[in-house]
Formats: sequence, structure tokens, C-alpha cells
Amino acid sequence: MATEAIEKVHVLIIGSGPAGYTAAIYAARANMKPVLYQGIQPGGQLTITTEVENYPGYPEGIQGPEMMVHFEKQAARMGADIRYGIATKVDFSKQPFIVWIDEEKIIEADAVIISTGASAKWLGLPSEERLNGYGVSACAVCDGFFFRGKEVAIVGAGDTAAEEAMYLSKLCTTVHMLVRRDKMRASKVMQDRVLNTPNIKVYWNSDTDEILGDKKVEAVRIKNNQTQETQDVPVSAFFVAIGHQPNSDIFKEWITMDETGYIQTIPGTSKTNVEGVFAAGDVQDKNYRQAVTAAGSGCMAALDAERYLSAKGTI
Ligand code: NDP
Repeated sequence: MATEAIEKVHVLIIGSGPAGYTAAIYAARANMKPVLYQGIQPGGQLTITTEVENYPGYPEGIQGPEMMVHFEKQAARMGADIRYGIATKVDFSKQPFIVWIDEEKIIEADAVIISTGASAKWLGLPSEERLNGYGVSACAVCDGFFFRGKEVAIVGAGDTAAEEAMYLSKLCTTVHMLVRRDKMRASKVMQDRVLNTPNIKVYWNSDTDEILGDKKVEAVRIKNNQTQETQDVPVSAFFVAIGHQPNSDIFKEWITMDETGYIQTIPGTSKTNVEGVFAAGDVQDKNYRQAVTAAGSGCMAALDAERYLSAKGTI
């Protein structure tokens, strides 16, 4: 495998969602000459959503992909060096830190900001993929508003599904909640809330057989996995809330994470257990997961990196 010459940078940002681009904007304005690698999905999860109405500053709302183009342009205008490429391996055992890009290029960095995000888990049905963005969504807070006054379905039984079902119950006439076992994983308090909400109808022991609809979601075919009986329930949207997977695999050897792979930061900061490595956005946040909170944490990471490099006398 060919190995290019080693490139030395002050601040390397890995990932290009709201956290990464915001970190790039702040780092570039602080003259840290950041280099940002965009990763597998340039622009991150917002590039697979439709309209974003809850990001402040866009009174008319904006399409997710367009918003991420704005983030990128702003970071580029400030002087961030934005590149295609995927970080495939890291060595955080000593400084400068070493990051391999696309398994061949080597970057040495004085500071690293990890903003690789998280990916929603999907059921894996072809109809789910086909209707993604046309009524199928993995984010009730992002997309529930578009289905107010309608019937919707949600699959999942953890705290996220319970919270999202509660959120949807305030907007929608009926929320059909598909639980694959005879109990929920969600905390007791969230379960009680769900079960005491009259317009949430829980289907126990139930799988999603198919999402029905030609150009948009029209119904869901629910299959009872005990009796094998199916029923088609008309809905306008189908929300998937079966968990997220933080994109943190390549950092496992060095960075402290919780049991599900979310990077742990020192509370109130973006600092990880490795001095000089910072984390921002969904890769370290399983609670809020919003564009605006990710952007805020990206700002924190750039400021933390700046203070770290100034204290070291690097910049
Ligand atoms: P979880 O992994 O906790 O739950 C995932 C749920 O999806 C489970 O009920 C699981 O079912 C179900 N599921 C998984 N795969 C499928 C499938 N193929 N078909 C149908 N159902 C499926 O994920 P969450 O995102 O809910 O939560 C992640 C973590 O974040 C948890 O620790 C949670 O407590 C925490 N959290 C905390 C919040 C808070 O404190 N406010 C809010 C949101 C999350 P099964 O139970 O059968 O495995």
C-alpha cells in the first residue's frame, strides 16, 4: 500500500456535520488553520433529512442538505481546509497524534477534534429505504411537525422511542407504537407515560412486516410475531427509533467510551481522556442529538483546542 508523505497540521477535525463545520469555523477564525476530513457522509445526518425548521436563523426553514452546504461554505470562507476522505485508523499514544486517511495518507496533528456523529439504525426493509424522506424518518423531533393532525407509526421500545412517541402524541391524532417483545426496554417512568397516553396505541409482540405506499407512506403492515397475523394500519409517517450507533469504532483503543460506544467527555467541556483530543456532536451525545446542540459543542471543541494549543505554545 502506497504511503504518502506525512503532513503536519495544528488541528485536525474528523467529520462534517454541524459539530465538525462549526469547530472548523471557530478554529479557522482563531488562525489554527484547521484541516477537516468530511468522512463517509459529507454533511452528516442532515443530508438525509428534508426540511429543517428548528435551526435558529432560518425563519422560513431550510432543506437539510442545503443547510449543510451553507455550513461548509462558511467554514471554507473562514479558511478551513475541507477535504474528502475518511479517517480509517488513529494512534493517540503520543503527540503529535497520527491519523490515517483512506488507509494511506498520514496526518500528524497537534490537536484532534472528533465529530464523526452517529448513524440511526434502520430495520433494513426495502420499503423503508425506498420511502426514506417520504414519510419514513429516524427523527420525530425533526419531522413530526409535518404530520400534525395525522396518524403515524413508530417502531422501537427504548427511551428514545418512548420520548419520540410522547412527542408525536402531542402533534398527531394517533401514534401506533410497534414493540417487538411483550415488554419495553424504556425506563419505567417513560413506559408509564406512554401507556397512560390515550392516543398512543401499543402493539405488543409486533414486527414491521412492510411499509406500504407508492410515492409516500400510506400504511404499515404489522405482523404479530406470536400469531403471525398481519394487519394494515393506515398512517402518514413511519418513525424508526431503534437506536443509534455512534461512529467511534476507530477510536476505541484510545478514547474512553460508554458501553454503547459514545465518547465520554469531561462534563461541561469537549475534552476526552486523551489530552489534546476533543469530541463534539452526536458521537459524544446520546441525549440531545440536535443540529443546534451539535453546533454548540463544535464551538466548545474549537475553543478547548485553542486553549490547549496556546497553553502548549503551539499557536
Ligand atoms: P435502545 O438500544 O435503548 O433501545 C432500542 C429499542 O429498539 C429496543 O426497545 C429494541 O428492542 C428496539 N429494537 C432494536 N432493533 C429492533 C428491530 N429490528 N425491530 C424492532 N425493534 C427493535 O436505544 P435508545 O435509542 O432508545 O436509547 C439509547 C440509550 O440512550 C439508552 O441507554 C437510553 O436509556 C438512553 N436515552 C436516554 C434518554 C433520557 O434519559 N432522556 C432519552 C433517549 C435515550 P428490544 O428491547 O426488544 O431489544
